[in-house]
Amino acid sequence: MTRIVYVNGSFLPENEATVSIFDRGFLFADGVYEVTSVLDGKLIDFASHATRLARSLTELDMRSPIEMDDLLAVHRELVRANDIEEGLVYLQITRGAASDRDFAYPSEDTPPTIVLFTQNKPGLADSPMAKVGIKVISIEDQRWGRRDIKTVQLLYPSMGKMMAKAAGCDDAWMVENGAVTEGTSNNAYIVKNGKIITRQLSNNILHGITRAAVLRFAKEAQMEVEERAFTVLEVQDADEAFFTSASAFVMPVVEIDGVVIGSGAPGSVSLRLREIYLEESLKTAI
Ligand code: PMP
Repeated sequence: MTRIVYVNGSFLPENEATVSIFDRGFLFADGVYEVTSVLDGKLIDFASHATRLARSLTELDMRSPIEMDDLLAVHRELVRANDIEEGLVYLQITRGAASDRDFAYPSEDTPPTIVLFTQNKPGLADSPMAKVGIKVISIEDQRWGRRDIKTVQLLYPSMGKMMAKAAGCDDAWMVENGAVTEGTSNNAYIVKNGKIITRQLSNNILHGITRAAVLRFAKEAQMEVEERAFTVLEVQDADEAFFTSASAFVMPVVEIDGVVIGSGAPGSVSLRLREIYLEESLKTAI
């Protein structure tokens, strides 16, 4: 089955969808994106993703090429057309294609580019990796200073994933001034003496939609939460570690820089949070 994608107002087979070589996403990484997961054929936490998208656009003085209500309809149509039961919907918006390359933003009448595509991921909820946990390395955080905006500048995170792969690991946790900021594409957590510890929100990390939901569910379940920075040494000394993202939900981390965390198996808090997250977020899926 050919994947159906959405590009600038049209639903097309993926091989017929094109954008300009002068698109500012391509030339300047001048774009933002979102990723929404699909479980049971329904979108998880869509409203929060739409709100963060609107904020990312505002922060970059970029106008939206689509009304938020229409955005939901496009997401739903792609899920339907591609028969997605479990998977992801990617949304990319760029400042469009100016008539020529220029660092300065193009005039207001330049239409933004909008692209959406799905990824079919059977078994997303029942992930085999969540049962054994993943291994990470720590790397210096060399990204720019506005990581709270969900921009398409993903070169350093991509380099980080390759460094992790070369070290026989699954991901990298980034470190700045001695403290972990976040994973290459996820928010990072440790658990020590029953307390869930994750870095506080600021411009230094992406404000994860899954992070917000998981912390809310943890508090509702009377779990103790502390929002503060932590070091790699604290990760190595923790009882458990995990990360969160819309594409992996709650994922246990069992090793960092070659040091086993806790028992070396996914911890009970991490697994319980994964279970609660999947259960609760499905209740409000649309
Ligand atoms: N931090 C970074 C750097 C990310 O790229 C992502 C996922 N795109 C996250 C955190 C997690 O955010 P969310 O829960 O909204 O997927």
